[in-house]
Amino acid sequence: MGKRTKKVGPTGKYGPRYGVKVRKRLKEVETAKSRKYICPNCNHQSVKRVGTGIWKCRRCNLVFAGGAYRPFVSTSYRKETGRGPQTIEEEPAEGEENV
Ligand SMILES: [Zn+2]
Repeated sequence: MGKRTKKVGPTGKYGPRYGVKVRKRLKEVETAKSRKYICPNCNHQSVKRVGTGIWKCRRCNLVFAGGAYRPFVSTSYRKETGRGPQTIEEEPAEGEENV
């Protein structure tokens, strides 16, 4: 038997209602939030959404804050400042030329 909702995915529950465009956008969000993500701590694909903006790794039990529907968002404050799970690099100390 073929997969019944190959095209519409989680938005199949709405049938033909609300318009194609809206349902397509919803599908993106719904699949993004139910997917498993790579854990920034143990690098295993076991991060799941617990609630809005709350993500938890089922392997190392790390709980961290992220986007509402995906753990890492492109427009986040964290990315701009270089902090957070994706970019944990220490900046080299400056002013060493005075030594
Ligand atoms: Zn983990």
